[in-house]
Amino acid sequence: MARAKQSSADQLDTVDRRLLDVLQRDFPPTVRPFAAIGERLGLPEEEVLARVRRLKGPQKGRLIRQISAIFDTSALGYKSTLVAMQVPEHDVDQAAAAINRHPGVSHNYQRDHPWNLWFTLAVPPNEKLETTVEALVDESGGYPYRLFPPLRVFKINVQLDMEAASDISPVDSAQGSRPASAPTPNTRDRAFIRELQEDIGIVPHPFAGVADRLGVSQEEVLAWLQEAKTAGWLRRFAAILHHRQAGYVANGMVVWRVPDGSIESVATFAASLPQVSHCYQRPTYPDWPYNLFTMIHAKSKENCRAIAQKISQETGVSDYVILFSTKEYKKARPKYFVPAQEVTTSKSQSLHSEAQRYMPGGVNSPVRAFRAVGGEPLFIARGEGPYIYDADGRCYVDYVLSWGPLILGHAHPQVVSALKEAVERGISYGAPTALETELAKRVVEAVPSIEMVRFVNSGTEATMSALRLARAYTGRSKIIKFEGCYHGHADFLLVRAGSGVTTLALPDSAGVPESIARDTLVAPYNDLQAVDRLFSENRGEIAAVIVEPVAGNMGVIPPEPGFLEGVREVTKAEGALLIFDEVITGFRVAYGGAQALYGVTPDLTCLGKVIGGGLPVGAYGGRREIMEMVAPLGPVYQAGTLSGNPLSMTAGIETLKLLAEPGVYQRLEEMSARLAAGLRAAAEAARTPVFQTRVGSMFCVFFSAERIVDYASAKRSDSNKYALFFRAMLANGVYLAPSQFEAGFLSLAHSEQDIHRTVQAAEAAFSGLRA
Ligand code: PLP
Repeated sequence: MARAKQSSADQLDTVDRRLLDVLQRDFPPTVRPFAAIGERLGLPEEEVLARVRRLKGPQKGRLIRQISAIFDTSALGYKSTLVAMQVPEHDVDQAAAAINRHPGVSHNYQRDHPWNLWFTLAVPPNEKLETTVEALVDESGGYPYRLFPPLRVFKINVQLDMEAASDISPVDSAQGSRPASAPTPNTRDRAFIRELQEDIGIVPHPFAGVADRLGVSQEEVLAWLQEAKTAGWLRRFAAILHHRQAGYVANGMVVWRVPDGSIESVATFAASLPQVSHCYQRPTYPDWPYNLFTMIHAKSKENCRAIAQKISQETGVSDYVILFSTKEYKKARPKYFVPAQEVTTSKSQSLHSEAQRYMPGGVNSPVRAFRAVGGEPLFIARGEGPYIYDADGRCYVDYVLSWGPLILGHAHPQVVSALKEAVERGISYGAPTALETELAKRVVEAVPSIEMVRFVNSGTEATMSALRLARAYTGRSKIIKFEGCYHGHADFLLVRAGSGVTTLALPDSAGVPESIARDTLVAPYNDLQAVDRLFSENRGEIAAVIVEPVAGNMGVIPPEPGFLEGVREVTKAEGALLIFDEVITGFRVAYGGAQALYGVTPDLTCLGKVIGGGLPVGAYGGRREIMEMVAPLGPVYQAGTLSGNPLSMTAGIETLKLLAEPGVYQRLEEMSARLAAGLRAAAEAARTPVFQTRVGSMFCVFFSAERIVDYASAKRSDSNKYALFFRAMLANGVYLAPSQFEAGFLSLAHSEQDIHRTVQAAEAAFSGLRA
């Protein structure tokens, strides 16, 4: 007989086992629960904390999955069902993945039976269970399916007996008496439920964080838990274990064909066995005669069969089948009252199919098509604060923020109301307005290098025009850019470094003639020596160096100390202009942009994104003597029908007004630091090697164990892993950039709760990568 694999449970001492039993059964409802447990077990609080941390940690195979409130799905008004599907073997993974995207799916297993895919689904009170199931079945391939909603619940009790695990001895089924009709949770209750369903911290005062986030005292949190118990919403506050790690490697769903009159007695006996964690009566179908479902967790299949046999002998029911799980696709607690719970089917998909008929890839900017991460792009219906809602009504915490502009969050009321007023006055005139001067003044006052500015309609126009100006000013034609920096899609900026050499640039896009790429020289980011070399090889020919002072288009890569200063020095010495492309960083990393943050002043600066508050805009500006070369004052031609249009100017002005208020950047910094720390801890807990970067509210998580300093190192990160991470985050209601090589952005609208939720999603996503 094959030797059973050693589980973490085999290495537990008796104190651990007793501790696990207490955590599963009687987690004390006090402000210092671990001290109370310590008193019961004769241990100091620190030892209890240390043991619990160890049992939750990787050395013990994360035996404790979570310690949290465990709510009663139906008492909360949620409807739930078990669903079985018949999926051809080679399609099971794909079908399971489609089903798992729904956050109301808490368990999803492949089982060794023609009905081979089994999942549980809970939907909120306003959603129809059948419709959601139909949609999920449709999305997963439309295979035959059956719904098995619970008709009677005899036991829901997943406590594993850690002390007397191997014998089959009846214990109290702990079938708590729940009021027949529980009251409906109000808004306050929902906020408590949202918080308390999450894992608590293993700290002396684990309820302090929850209390803080809810703006109440710890005592109020505990009092609410008591109320929730009385209302019937709360089943218990307790630890949930990883069954497999606890040594219960065999998971058998035993289904019984019980004569109608005997259901009660058979179920009562089955439910009395500790190894039976769930016992339900469910409907039958012409091709499914089994009406009683028992879940048995045992240490081996043989044990599982023995328990089933014991039930059979004791009850006289001989018609039964054991469906063992062969693959666990999902095992999680359903999340209640989180916005992403409102998932139904994918309208985005059908909108995308239609869009593809009329627009290349169905999009107007390539990265939106999700090609780097797979799957279908979301079609967005609306945005509000830190959230976006897709065409299916799903809500996501948004860290893309229209690729950076929405530093105030979506539809900020002040911006919206100013825009409404502006639009009433007329949309565009193609003639000067005072609004342009107002925004220009704000920009000039904020950005150290800018004495005069010209507004255009996009970042692309800004960099293209700034370089035209630099060439005119210096009378030179070559420029230097850095590998991996993106400056919009002007022909001569769509180049990359040639193989191994930094001096030769190649077109990065079809349609860009080599003759145009020839004047663009490319150096690795953060490599001053390469810049020096290019200058010495092209003496007197280089008009400008253009750089993103914080690179934001190959993930986020901050400048190494001395890099920007060095580029400033060499450009000055060589008579070339230094252009900071602050389309992303302007008013983002500091009010005065990266140049204010790092104290390096370029000759010209390009802006975009934030200064338009979400409307199309770009700008370039710099020293007066250079800017005075622009038409109509000077010989450098540059124009735009909609440049400086009143709507973009209005949105920009309102945005900058709010950004100029005291404490704004400090808040962005603090919140971003919190998010980054949470993501780091989540990655560490899951032992996923990542390299995190952040400058203010721009951040990135590279799936890489090495330090990322330039394009080459960025490219070595594992973008497949990122894609999996991205999809897991999306499934949990967090919208990240659909590519490893983009920046994440935080807005002033993101709350601590949003960050908390994001970190929890990340914990699940990172640990999913390990599985
Ligand atoms: N420069 C930088 C640094 C950018 O990130 C972008 C766009 O993301 C651009 C220029 C081009 O701006 P736009 O897309 O508005 O043309």
